[in-house]
Amino acid sequence: MQNQAIPTLLPVYQRADVAFERGEGAWLYDREGRRWLDMMSGIAVTALGHCHPHLVRAVQEQAAKLWHVSNIVRIPELERLADRLVAATFADTCFVCNSGAEALECAIKMARRYWHEQGEPERHRIVTFEGAFHGRTMATVSAAGGKKLIDGFAPLLPGFDIVPWGDHEAFNAAVGPETAAVLIEPIQGEGGVRVVPDECLKGIRLLCDQQGALLILDEVQTGMGRTGTLFYHEQVGIEPDIMPIAKALGGGFPVGACLATARAASGMTAGTHGSTFGGNPLACAVANAVLDVMLEEGFLEGVRERGAQLIGGLEELRRRYPAAIAEVRGRGLMAGIRTEAPNSDWARRLRDHGVVPVTASDNVVRLFPPLTATAEDIAFGLDAVEAVCREVAG
Ligand SMILES: *Cc1c(COP(=O)(O)O)cnc(C)c1O
Repeated sequence: MQNQAIPTLLPVYQRADVAFERGEGAWLYDREGRRWLDMMSGIAVTALGHCHPHLVRAVQEQAAKLWHVSNIVRIPELERLADRLVAATFADTCFVCNSGAEALECAIKMARRYWHEQGEPERHRIVTFEGAFHGRTMATVSAAGGKKLIDGFAPLLPGFDIVPWGDHEAFNAAVGPETAAVLIEPIQGEGGVRVVPDECLKGIRLLCDQQGALLILDEVQTGMGRTGTLFYHEQVGIEPDIMPIAKALGGGFPVGACLATARAASGMTAGTHGSTFGGNPLACAVANAVLDVMLEEGFLEGVRERGAQLIGGLEELRRRYPAAIAEVRGRGLMAGIRTEAPNSDWARRLRDHGVVPVTASDNVVRLFPPLTATAEDIAFGLDAVEAVCREVAG
């Protein structure tokens, strides 16, 4: 029976009053046939656009063969995915799950378990950063600590030392003999496309090495080609010990993974972790198909080219309309503009001009087109941003 005090759908989202019926490449269509350029990509998920023929084929073929067995048997599609992720990265091993938060849970457990196995169980604390987003489970909201994430959910999981963004002194003081790991997004996504300077990431890596702490890079949003390299840390020239990923890994199908070095993963023996759905044949077939496309010669180069077009174009608009755009941020096709007017107002205006963006903290509007967007698609997006600049700058 319906209680009138609450909608049938738990009202935890404030949704825009628009619904799409189908998608094709970088475009979304509603039932009346009106179309929008998708510059949210399901929040950095549908990296190959909508209904990419190679992904559609992979889903259809696997759906007709085998969807789910269990991790108590071997899964060839899963083994192939693990081999390919390891071959393409710093990692020696990986665990496959269904979401970003689950990948983070695996990372946190792995770091604690490592020190437990080293005979130093008191070394269980994890240093994190203000403004971070690592997911919505109790451990991941406790790790990020943002007021909106934790309000009313006490008691939180203990063991996180949250340091202010950009406060080097606080960070140096926080990493000590009880620090199991440092956990950071190399570019804060939900936090407003805040890029951690290369020198800071290198300094964090160095301090972890000096103190023996593990470095966990949360590349759930920055990973899988979004910034113009398969993973963002490749551009910085550092490597993590543990790296949770998800979002674009399945191109729209729910898949996550936690990648790690042999050393970091050494405590994760049989029975220490698991997942019913994680690594199922259907999900892995899709993730393998995503990799087929992303690892193709020239794919990431194309992302870098269109990234330069998008961010360069936004910089140009900021110069011409300083009363509209305060700042341009990002790398590759992970672009953000800090707007002068409220970002929600910008999002509504952009939709009116045929573009669907996604907002972030710090009054930022994120512009995350599919990595397969054409130069014409990006130009359409920039025209819409310019139209809004003209409106709000008066
Ligand atoms: C989205 C996101 C997560 C959480 O992923 P879910 O799939 O929503 O659980 C974690 N970390 C970062 C950086 C993210 O952007």
